Amino acid sequence: MTEETKSLNFIEHIIEEDLSNGLENNKLRFRFPPEPNGYLHIGHAASICLNFGLGERYNAPVNLRFDDTNPAKEEQEYVDAIKKDIEWLGFKWANELYSSDYFQQLYDWTVDLIKKGKAYVDEQSSEEIRAQKGTPTSIGTDSPYRNRSVEENLALFEKMKNGEFDEGDVVLRAKIDMSHNNMHMRDPILYRVLKKAHHRTGTDWCIFPMYDWTHGESDYIEQISHSICTLEFKSHRELYDWYLDQVVTSDKLRPKQREFARRNLSYTIMSKRKLLQLVENGVVNGWDDPRMPTISGLRRRGYTPESIKNFSELSGISKRDNVTDVSLLEFCIKDHLNTIAPRVLAVLDPVKVVITNYPEGKEELLDANYNDYAEGFGSREVPFSREIYIEKEDFREEANKKFFRLKLGKEVRLKNAYIIKAESCVKDAEGNVTEIHCTYDENSLSGSGSEASLRKIKGTLHWVSVKHAVEAEVRVYDRLFSDEAPDNHKDKGFMDFVNPNSLDVITAACEPSLASAKKGDTFQFQRKGYFCVDEDTTEGKLVFNRTVPLRDSWAKMETK
Ligand code: ATP
Ligand code: MG
Repeated sequence: MTEETKSLNFIEHIIEEDLSNGLENNKLRFRFPPEPNGYLHIGHAASICLNFGLGERYNAPVNLRFDDTNPAKEEQEYVDAIKKDIEWLGFKWANELYSSDYFQQLYDWTVDLIKKGKAYVDEQSSEEIRAQKGTPTSIGTDSPYRNRSVEENLALFEKMKNGEFDEGDVVLRAKIDMSHNNMHMRDPILYRVLKKAHHRTGTDWCIFPMYDWTHGESDYIEQISHSICTLEFKSHRELYDWYLDQVVTSDKLRPKQREFARRNLSYTIMSKRKLLQLVENGVVNGWDDPRMPTISGLRRRGYTPESIKNFSELSGISKRDNVTDVSLLEFCIKDHLNTIAPRVLAVLDPVKVVITNYPEGKEELLDANYNDYAEGFGSREVPFSREIYIEKEDFREEANKKFFRLKLGKEVRLKNAYIIKAESCVKDAEGNVTEIHCTYDENSLSGSGSEASLRKIKGTLHWVSVKHAVEAEVRVYDRLFSDEAPDNHKDKGFMDFVNPNSLDVITAACEPSLASAKKGDTFQFQRKGYFCVDEDTTEGKLVFNRTVPLRDSWAKMETK
């Protein structure tokens, strides 16, 4: 087995087999078919990467097809957002298409079906129809309207189209077999009446084709060779094929539906309908809230297209349902940002340090690399002065030997600056440390090459000069759900597992170079994690999102 064949996923194996059985390479064509009823999420990214990945591997076109057959839920806003997300991921579709463009063709095919005696108008209520469906172990019951004449059906269907029925009064059903062992084959609904304006066809149509009737025929119209969908459609495949049988002609390619497992992520829900509930109930601030598993949320959170594509690659394409650990996604973004994000100094929970032997009024500009471990990042100057901020948690009056940070009587190095020693501290009435007094070794400047600068000191702290600090709002996110599978409880819904502390807004002290940071810029705040500039940033106010901490606090909590 060559490297090339070893890395094929099972869908690619299917395609390879089709090619070896005579399918011409130039007949390969794929599609990504979102319904514009919400924003894309990380699950969709699996399908996008799969379909567009096939397009790249086989040099074949990939259509973006909006599956827009339900005007009650679909909106132009979603169409625009979906296009933006796919472009951002770096994929190019061959054609932007809409199932609604095929309404006339679908209608014409439906009239043919009726003429062939393969479809009928049913006037029963949806409850009655459901009750007659039977169960997997008992056959269904024929509708009393099943044997209407072709003429009657044609006339009624025409009336449906002309808006002479109200929603729910009638449906058009395919006449297949009410005793079929596949429930989907028991006279499925082809059309229903919906009197809502469609985002593209307006009020031209008031009958709308169902998913099954639309999807395969759209694949056929576009001559999609492999229509790849998720596992829940496996049982629909027989119907997909039955519908194709009604329209395929021998001179055209017959599409083939194949299924792969949905991507599920731990600590997350992934259904547009449910994500919409989070938005509508104000649990999050919109579809692109950085806590959302949407592509737009991840983008705003600071995720890169590379990290999402790598995540797709690593989580793979599977035949069976499974759950991917969200920490894999977090690993992927850390892994990428580690190679691209400049490292800067920002103190998230500041306490003041006064360096008592540093001359008052003196200021120095210290050279600091944006990355000490890789070439090409360049450097900037950071101002140093007598008063600096460090993290509160980096100081203790007393601590054991394993605390390599600042404690009374001991030394630490300040990143890119000097070695300081804690001499005393000032406390408020509650005993909280409000100021730390230190001395510094003036010969210990990092990079100076002096003997003092080369002294071995265990801890290095990040810091920011008080006088030069730039204030920033930092939004620290935690998981949106406190449960590993919020969607998977019998007695509770996912809303019951919303983590009430998923957002913490703090004020940080940042090194002054960050004042010129632009929306979307990404940084490593040394020792703290990766942060990006949020779009809420204005001239006078910097806002950062924490993309991901350097260390995973959840892993720590769980092993406690
Ligand atoms: P949702 O319930 O989130 O709305 P959906 O399947 O109804 O999901 P569509 O817009 O119909 O959403 O999906 C477009 C394509 O993306 C489909 O081919 C679908 O199978 C695929 N897809 C959706 N969710 C996932 C997922 N979690 N993992 C992999 N593929 C997915
Ligand atoms: Mg759907």
